Amino acid sequence: MSALSAIPPVSKLFHFLVRAVPGAAVLSAFIHLARGGFRGLHTLGWTEASLVVFLLAGLGVLGWRRFTRGAVGAPVYLRDDLELGAVLIASAFIVVAIAGGAVFPLIYLVMAFLVAFLPRNAGLALLGVALAFDAVIVLQGPDRNVTSFLTHALFLALFAGLYHLVLSARIAAARRAESAAVEKRIKEVEERARTFRLVSSGSHDNPPDVKDEEKWLLASVKEIEGAVGAALEIAETALHTHTCAAFLLASDDKGLKLYDCRSASDRVQRERFNAGEGMLGGVLKRRAPVRMHSAHGLKGITWYDGSAPTLGAVLAVPIIEAASGLVRGVLVADRVTHNPFSDDDEKLLTTIASEVLRSIEVERVMSYIRKTRDEKDRFFRAIEELNRAGSPDQVFLAVLESARQLAGLDFCAVTIVNEQEGKRVHKVARMLGVTAQGSKALEGRTFPDNNGLVANVVRYGAPLPGRDIKAMDRQVIFDEDTQLRGLAALKIFPLTAGDRILGTLVAGSRRKAALDHDVLRMLEVIAIQAAQAVLRAQLYEAMERMATTDGMTGLYNNRTFQAKADEMLAHSRRYGRKCSLMLTDVDHFKSVNDTYGHLTGDQVLKGVARILREQARDTDIVARYGGEEFAILMPETDAKGAKIIAERIREAIMAEVFQTEMGPLKVTLSLGIATAPDHGTDKLVLVEQADQCLYYAKRHGRNQSVTVAEAQGGRKLQAVEG
Ligand code: GH3
Ligand code: MG
Ligand code: MG
Repeated sequence: MSALSAIPPVSKLFHFLVRAVPGAAVLSAFIHLARGGFRGLHTLGWTEASLVVFLLAGLGVLGWRRFTRGAVGAPVYLRDDLELGAVLIASAFIVVAIAGGAVFPLIYLVMAFLVAFLPRNAGLALLGVALAFDAVIVLQGPDRNVTSFLTHALFLALFAGLYHLVLSARIAAARRAESAAVEKRIKEVEERARTFRLVSSGSHDNPPDVKDEEKWLLASVKEIEGAVGAALEIAETALHTHTCAAFLLASDDKGLKLYDCRSASDRVQRERFNAGEGMLGGVLKRRAPVRMHSAHGLKGITWYDGSAPTLGAVLAVPIIEAASGLVRGVLVADRVTHNPFSDDDEKLLTTIASEVLRSIEVERVMSYIRKTRDEKDRFFRAIEELNRAGSPDQVFLAVLESARQLAGLDFCAVTIVNEQEGKRVHKVARMLGVTAQGSKALEGRTFPDNNGLVANVVRYGAPLPGRDIKAMDRQVIFDEDTQLRGLAALKIFPLTAGDRILGTLVAGSRRKAALDHDVLRMLEVIAIQAAQAVLRAQLYEAMERMATTDGMTGLYNNRTFQAKADEMLAHSRRYGRKCSLMLTDVDHFKSVNDTYGHLTGDQVLKGVARILREQARDTDIVARYGGEEFAILMPETDAKGAKIIAERIREAIMAEVFQTEMGPLKVTLSLGIATAPDHGTDKLVLVEQADQCLYYAKRHGRNQSVTVAEAQGGRKLQAVEG
């Protein structure tokens, strides 16, 4: 508006006229079409030509306006869109009028174009314009074809509508894709930020970068140290000091220690000195700056070793942590000349004090980061180790190793709890450390449920002891007979898997402060992982046991017997070693069942199995061959040796009185013995031979053991007899 008002009246009129060109051109074209103009090529004359030029001029004006507005970033108005659309529609209808209905699809095309590129309301308005044009052309015609007009109208509307729908759907899809891409990008950035945070907070699984990280940390620490040095240098120069030094309080608040200094003297105190004395003591106590000067030398100078120089002026400011209000140290500036420090000097030194504070803060954070990162590294390695461990014993060892390494423990142990006849029995599965008296005897030790710490941890499922306990030596950890001496800190964690408590992790240290919050957290996590690992290993063992042993007798099952026999016989074949196989069968066992019942029979079978296991040697394989038949594989045993053992077994069974619910019971056993390689190294052959011997024993009165040689001798004997 303001631009327009600046234009002179003539120019304004011109501007208005130019502005009116597109609208006027469309209107003229419309009127001419309505009056029957542009009907066929033969009708074209000057009027038509000038109308076309008029339209072109309108188009030109619109194009120019669009261009100039676009160049300055001005918005395009609805009117501009309407005019452009109308000019295009008028032109298209002129073409249709001239060329005839065959080119009418041109209108659809133009409408599609307009709907696609112009806003919705402009599109709708232009649809109306197109219908008006169509009406004058079709309805003004000689045959006044209403149907044709309606068809056109319908198609135009449909075309425009569909096109609009398709287009907006595509635009929406594109927008969605775009926002998805944006979201993905944001996620990536966040991920990277998180990784960075993790990296800078220490956890790391990418060893090559660790070194870079370390370098970066070192560099930052160096830089900060440099910053303090530079600050002190500024103080030295600006304040003309003899010495400008920062001293930090020790953790017990009783001593001061030099942090950094700039001094003309080499006698600045480098050792720790008493923080409560002298001028610095006063500053620390009052938490306020102190300024002193004297022409005759000052007293209370503690920051030089040996003989202090005679000082004329001293300015000391406390280094106070803003957040906590804690005094961390003191910054001192002194002069040998009797030239007092001013208010401005004090201000400057206070600023430098805050600089020192900032740098020690950063340093502390840095070292914390480094420490926690190292801890986490070790921690993750330990957890990995734990998860790799297979058997319970491996798990115990991994638990103890990781606990000891991570927490720097002097003593640690894993205990496992079992139920035996409804009562808890604890067992020290594995231990590390030598604090225990007679620690060797501790491993494998079992003790009943008592009032010791381990038993209570299992009972209540919570770590113990809850607080620091003073008389650690008098604590019962396992049982009364096993006292641990010399521990200053102790914590026992339950090994909890689901709602089961499998045992405990006992952690002890000679240092009282060893089990701090972080270490306890770590041990807690190790205990959780350990419980899972122990459970896994125990389940695996149980599964293996179930697959290889017979449920009733606990002996190897037939499948395992077959596998062991294959192994043993292969060895015998290869090295020509002796190996005996014994098959046994309970005599008249059917009658046991028949007289006393199957359950009693089972009890007897369990007893027989127990005796077989007791009488066999550790290297022998005792298996339930099937039913009331058992097999014993005896490596490195010839027929003679096997016979001795067979007789031992037979006599033991014969002597045994089986206590059953139906009263005492006695059975006898028959045994057949075959030996490899003497009677073959093929498993089937050997089993067959042993079976023959067993059969021989049965036929010859039972309750006896028979070797192949005896059976063959007997057979000959029998043959002779026969
Ligand atoms: P023999 O002296 O000839 O061996 O006489 P026997 O009665 O023992 O005869 P045999 O060995 O053929 O019979 C085996 C019996 O053992 C048959 C079956 O009822 C019984 N038996 C097999 N397995 C079991 C088991 O697991 N429990 C019980 N209670 N009985 C079993
Ligand atoms: Mg039998
Ligand atoms: Mg039998």
